[in-house]
Formats: sequence, C-alpha cells, structure tokens
Amino acid sequence: MDFINELLNGDFMPHGHCLLWRTDLLILHVGGDLLTFIAYMLIPLGLIRLVRARDDMRFDWMFLMFAGFIFFCGATHFLGVVNVWHGYYYIHGIIKSATGLISISTAILLWYLLPQAISIPSKRNMQAKIAELTQAEKQLAESNLRLEAEVKKRTAQLEKMATTDELTDLINRRETMRVLDIEISRASRQHAALCIMMLDLDYFKAINDTFGHQIGDKALKIAADCCKDQLRKTDYVGRIGGEEFLIILPDTDIDRATELAERIRLSLQQYTTANNDIPVCTVSIGVAPCRKTDTSASLIQHADETLYKAKAAGRNKVCRASD
Ligand code: GH3
Ligand code: MG
Ligand code: MG
Repeated sequence: MDFINELLNGDFMPHGHCLLWRTDLLILHVGGDLLTFIAYMLIPLGLIRLVRARDDMRFDWMFLMFAGFIFFCGATHFLGVVNVWHGYYYIHGIIKSATGLISISTAILLWYLLPQAISIPSKRNMQAKIAELTQAEKQLAESNLRLEAEVKKRTAQLEKMATTDELTDLINRRETMRVLDIEISRASRQHAALCIMMLDLDYFKAINDTFGHQIGDKALKIAADCCKDQLRKTDYVGRIGGEEFLIILPDTDIDRATELAERIRLSLQQYTTANNDIPVCTVSIGVAPCRKTDTSASLIQHADETLYKAKAAGRNKVCRASD
C-alpha cells in the first residue's frame, strides 16, 4: 500500500542522488559507460561489414537489427556520461525509449527467425550428408561397373551361343554360311584362290546304332579336332549338319586343298584306329574350288556333288571337283 500511495502522491519521482558523486564513483560510472559506448559502436560496424562481405549469408536483417539495437545501447551509455555533467534527461529518455523499441523488435524478430535458423543444417550435418552421398555415388559406380561387366560377359556368351556349335565348339551352320559369303566376295574382289571341302562321316548311323549316341558324339568331337589340327588360323571349319562339316580355305588352290583333305581323312582314320575307346571312324570328303561365277549355294552344291562321288567310290575317300 505504501508503494501505491507513493506512486499516486508524487513521492515516487527519483532525484538521482547527484550529490553523492565522488572521484572513484565518477571513474567507475564514466569509465564503464565510455568503454561500453566504444564497444557498442564497434560491434555494429563489425556486423555491417560482415553482412556486406558475405552475400551468401541468410538472415541479413537479423544482423542489421542487432547492429541497430547495439548502436542505440551505446548511445544510451554515452548520454549516461553526458548526464553526469549536463542533465539532458529528456534526450536520454528518448534514446532509451528508442533503444527499448529496437531491442524489443530485435527480440521479436529473433524468436520469429529462430525455428528457421535452427533448421539450417550445420556444417557437421552437411559434411555427413556429403560423405553419405559420396559413398552412395561410389557404390552406384561400383554396381554400374559390375553390371557393365555382367552385360559384356552375357553379350559375349550370347554371341558365342549364336555362332557356335555346342557339341564340337566349331562355328555353326549360320556362321559358316556367313563366313563363306564373305570369303567368296573377298576372293572374287582380290582374284584370290578359294576352295571348300564338304565332309561327311561314313556309316555314322551304324556307329550310333552299334555303340550308342554318346560314342557317336565323341566321334563327332574327334572328327572336329582332326579338322582343326590340320588347318591354318585363316581357315574355317563349321559343323553344318549332323555328321557333316564344311571347311573354307581362303588363298588355297585345289591341289593344296586336296592334300589337306587327304591329311584330314588319314588323321581321323588313324586316330580312331589307334584308340580303343572309340570305333574306327572314317570320312568322305569332296573338295571344290570357287569358280568366278560361284555363289555360296552353287559352290556348296558343287562340293556336295563331289562328296557323293567319294561316297559312291566306296567311302573313306577324297574327291576333287575336277575328278
Ligand atoms: P553315309 O556313310 O552314307 O553318310 O551314312 P551315314 O550313316 O553316316 O548317314 P545317315 O545320314 O544315314 O546318318 C547320319 C547319322 O548321324 C544319323 C544320326 O543319328 C547321326 N547324327 C546326326 N547328328 C548327330 C549328333 O549330334 N550326335 C550323334 N551321336 N549322332 C548324330
Ligand atoms: Mg550325312
Ligand atoms: Mg554320313
């Protein structure tokens, strides 16, 4: 009640106790106020410099508001010093009120911006995220490499499957025909010699019937190996039917091709005679040279007709087209 009475009857008005000033008090108050004033002028300058130097910084306004309210705090302290000698209480009051207003505004802005400021990821968060992304990128690159290698492997497998005969590992009929077309064109363009051989195993049905299909398969592989062993790297041998093979001999004349056919015939006969785990197996061979007008069909027919001459002559024989 005393306090309320004092407020109402005017006794509450303060008088500043100005008569109490002594040198030590003066130094404490004026020194403290001046130091605070200097600091409060330098801090806003620093904040303004920071905002101008960093255009990427968010919440510019927040920093400028802080600069403003610290400046007014400094002005209040300065007026405090002036007031020790001259009682500019009115001006001091106005500056204090302005300081209060800008401080309150800054406080409101601070609380308003706080959630946004808190939600900005810290440098540590960003580094962790970058590390996470780098790791994910590395894993992706590794899995891409693995996939690429797998695709390459599968493509190579498919290519091999599309062109190779599974049992003998020779090129298949389709690939043999493709190669033959290319070699006929090349021979005609370069006026080079080209011969082919058509091979057919003799009485192969009887081998199958007598010794079984597996032994038949084994004989087919041995026949394929005998052909491969006698050929150069530039020659081709393909399995074009059950027990039929076609050999393409680029840059080879009919004499040399016939010699080669004889070697293949002998090698199969000798190998199968010498090995007891396989029945004796022979082959008939028709050798034909590529003539100027030949297509792959006519050349194969020519070789086929020659092969049947070899069959008719008793099998296990080599016949050349001109015979
Ligand atoms: P020829 O001397 O007149 O050529 O008589 P051949 O018995 O060899 O001819 P034929 O055309 O009568 O029989 C060919 C045989 O080849 C019949 C078939 O069972 C066999 N054959 C075809 N493909 C395969 C195969 O992949 N594996 C095995 N084991 N036998 C096969
Ligand atoms: Mg046949
Ligand atoms: Mg046969």
